[in-house]
Amino acid sequence: MATIIPLTDARTAANPDARRAALDAFVRAAAEQPATAPGPVADTRGRRMHDLRISVTDRCNFRCTYCMPRDVFDADYRFLPHADLLTFEEITRIARIFVDRGVSKVRLTGGEPLLRRNIERLVEMLAGIGGLDLTLTTNGALLAKKAQSLADAGLTRVTVSLDSLDDATFRAMNDADFPVAKVLEGIDAAVAAGLAPVKVNMVVQRGTNESSIVPMARHFKGTGHIVRFIEYMDVGTTNGWRMNDVVPAAEIVRMIDAELPLAPADPNYTGEVAARWRYQDGEGEIGVIASVTQAFCRDCTRARLSTDGKLYTCLFASDGYDLRGLLRGGFDDRRIDNAIAAVWRQRADRYSEVRTTNTVRAPKVEMSYIGG
Ligand code: SAM
Repeated sequence: MATIIPLTDARTAANPDARRAALDAFVRAAAEQPATAPGPVADTRGRRMHDLRISVTDRCNFRCTYCMPRDVFDADYRFLPHADLLTFEEITRIARIFVDRGVSKVRLTGGEPLLRRNIERLVEMLAGIGGLDLTLTTNGALLAKKAQSLADAGLTRVTVSLDSLDDATFRAMNDADFPVAKVLEGIDAAVAAGLAPVKVNMVVQRGTNESSIVPMARHFKGTGHIVRFIEYMDVGTTNGWRMNDVVPAAEIVRMIDAELPLAPADPNYTGEVAARWRYQDGEGEIGVIASVTQAFCRDCTRARLSTDGKLYTCLFASDGYDLRGLLRGGFDDRRIDNAIAAVWRQRADRYSEVRTTNTVRAPKVEMSYIGG
């Protein structure tokens, strides 16, 4: 593409409406450019597009204190109206274009993806694209009921979030009084449905659930499931994040290693989010996701589609590119592809590498909307 279109300048940077209008103008102008060479596309730092995360709802049945604090996401909170959500047909159409551009892994997320009605139908439609690693991240509350139908629809794997095996700690963190046992039932159902090995996500917060780290590792050791310990991140603006609340990944590994000896393992592929550690006795592995203390922007190959069809090129972005406007504005696939490729080509994000006290306070989208 020959034309270079300025995205933001000093005037738009301080004005959210102007900033959004500039991004809209960018995708519409890019869409109208002559078609570019098909196939994988790289950004300004040479990173290919490999994963697509799709948020299918901004609603959740939990109110995890670090993600959707109840005092913000309360009865008055304005979630997106249904008409704003991408339909399953729209999601599948966009996903196909991403796949043609090199995406081979799609993760459904949210919000809580199992709250989206007939989610199995979407799984079936995406599975119909073929050749995809098709996964879903869930809090597990509805998994016991839905695991089999999701597997039947073509889901490949599932990731379940569980922040503690201690019931009081878990209930306090999910702030919905939801018990550990029900999540474990969901994991068992996923295994029975053939969705194993299950990845288990545990967000670690200093002073809240550090004492759950070793019991969590011990519980899943030898089961084939992989616990991924996640550093608490400054996503969004509502969780009151402070650096002091982060337990660095190195400390998490030290705690586990002291009781259950670990050795580093190679990544499965370039751009894998979690650093892998295997148990020295051969009984499986864990992962640590150190977005705060060991930024992995250099290898970040993830694109994100928000619930209302905006393309985000970073989890910590403040704005996205409106693809729904193109879908509903009669743009054909070639023009939508042009826009997606142009957005990716000019991508320069590396938020976690340049995080400062100022960026922490900058406006950023909420994780429940953009998808975790
Ligand atoms: N509702 C689903 C779930 O609970 O897994 C999917 C969405 S949730 C936003 C996706 C993942 O993001 C979960 O594992 C959650 O624990 C994690 N997460 C949310 N806020 C986070 C934060 N501030 N730092 C680190 N991880 C976070």
